[in-house]
Amino acid sequence: MATPTQLELSGQLPAKDTSDGEAFNRWYITAIRRSELADYFEAVGGTMVIRPYGFSLWELMQSALDSRFKATGHKNAYFPLFVPESFLKREAKHVEGFAPEVAWVTHAGGAELEERLALRPTSETLFGHFYSKWIQSWRDLPMLLNQWCNIVRWEKRTVFFLRTTEFLWQEGHTAHRTSEEAHEETLRMLDVYADFAENELALPVVRGEKSAAERFAGADSTYSIEALMPDGKALQSGTSHFLGQNFARAFDIDFLDTDGERKLVWTTSWGMSTRILGGMVMMHGDDAGLILPPRVAPTQVILVPIPTRDETEEARVSGVVSGLIKQLTTKGIRAEADTSDKRPGWKFNEWELKGVPLRVEVGPRDLQTDQVTLVRRDNRAKEKVSVEGAVERIGDLLAEVQASLFLRAREFREANTHDADSYAQFKEIMSTQRGFIRVYWCGSADCEQRIKEETRATIRVMLEESADDRPGQCIYDGRPAHRRALFAQSY
Ligand SMILES: [Zn+2]
Repeated sequence: MATPTQLELSGQLPAKDTSDGEAFNRWYITAIRRSELADYFEAVGGTMVIRPYGFSLWELMQSALDSRFKATGHKNAYFPLFVPESFLKREAKHVEGFAPEVAWVTHAGGAELEERLALRPTSETLFGHFYSKWIQSWRDLPMLLNQWCNIVRWEKRTVFFLRTTEFLWQEGHTAHRTSEEAHEETLRMLDVYADFAENELALPVVRGEKSAAERFAGADSTYSIEALMPDGKALQSGTSHFLGQNFARAFDIDFLDTDGERKLVWTTSWGMSTRILGGMVMMHGDDAGLILPPRVAPTQVILVPIPTRDETEEARVSGVVSGLIKQLTTKGIRAEADTSDKRPGWKFNEWELKGVPLRVEVGPRDLQTDQVTLVRRDNRAKEKVSVEGAVERIGDLLAEVQASLFLRAREFREANTHDADSYAQFKEIMSTQRGFIRVYWCGSADCEQRIKEETRATIRVMLEESADDRPGQCIYDGRPAHRRALFAQSY
C-alpha cells in the first residue's frame, strides 16, 4: 500500500482513478485521513485509530444493524476477550483455519501462563462453552445472542477498515432445536445484512453460498453478501454460517427434546465488521472526497452562512441559520452550521471532503428574495428554495440522494457483471476490466483452484439455481455443470 505524501495529506486529494490499483489505493487512504475518519498507529503495524468522525459514522451503522437484530429476536451480551488455547483446539477445522492469524497472550502478571490465551479471533468456542451450561431443555431454545466487540487477527499490512489487525464487529451466535431452524436463521441474517447494506449504505450486494474452499473454518455452509467495488474487485461484506452440529459436538451442547431424548443443538454464527464502512467509502466517493449516504451520515446537512459587512444582513443570516437548524433538528435531521471564520469556499471544500450529503448556503443576496441555496454532494446540483419551504425540500433531497447513490452503484455493478462463454474470454475479462463473471462451474475444487492461480479470481458466491437455468459446461474443464457461480478478484 502506498503511503500518502505530506502534500496529499495537506492539500488536494489525488483523483479517484479506479483503473490503476495503486492510484485508487492512494485516493482511498488519503480520503480517509483527510476527512478524519481514521489514522494509522505506526507503533503497532496493522492497527488504526477510528477518529470521532469515523466513529460517529460507525455508531449510526451499528444502531441501524442492532435494531434489525433486536427486531429478529436477538439479545446482546458480552463475552471475554481471552480464548484458552484448549477451547480453540476442540473443533479441529476451526483451530486449523485460524491458527496463522491468532495473537497469543503467553505472559501476564509477571509470570508465564500455564495455558496460552488467544485474543479472540472469533468467539464460537466461548459461546459453545456457555451454551452447554445454559441450554438444558427444548424450552431454552432457540438461544439468539449477539455481541458487539473487537477482534484480533494478525495482519502484516494495514488497509484502513478493509484489513487491520484489530477491528470492530458484531458476531451473532445462535443455537436451535432443529437443523431446519438453524438453516432458516442463517439465511434470515444474510437477508438482514443485505437489507442493511442496500437500504442504509446504498451498497447493492449479491448474496449466496460460498464454495467449500471459501467456507468458514468449522462451518457446514457459509453464505456471504458481496459488493462490487469501483476497481472491479469484490468486497465480502458480511457472512452467515450454518455450523451444523460441529460446535455442539465439540462443546457437548445437548438438550432434552420434547420426545424425552437428549439431542445435540444446531448452531449458527454471523458477522459484519467495520470493513463494510471502507467498502461504502470506496464505492460512493469521488475526486473531491467522501460521499456519505444520508441515512448514516453523522452530519446530513451543513449550513454555511455567507459573510457580509452589513450588520442588519448579518443578523438576518444568522437568524435564518439558527432557525433552520432548530427546525431540522426537530424533524430528526442531523444538521449543523459551520460558523468558523474560514472563507465560504474553504468550508465548501472541507464539507465536500467529509461527504456531507447536503449543503445549505445562507447568504444576504438570496435572503433579499427570502431564499437559500441547496447543493447536493452526490451530483453537485444546486437549487434555490424559499426559507419557508427549505426544511421540507431538504428532507426530500436527502431521500433522493440516498436513492440515487444506490441506483448509481447498482448500475455500475450491472454494467460490470459479465457472462463468459469460454475460459479464454474469462481470462480476457479478468485481466482487463475485472468485475463479476457469471459462469457454470462443475463443483470441482481443482477447477476452482486452477482458476484462482491463473486469474486471481475466486468464487465469491454460488448462484441460486433458477428456473431458466439449463445444464451447462464448466468454464474450466467443460465437464457438465448444473450450477453457476459468480467469480471475481477480491479484497
Ligand atoms: Zn470444472
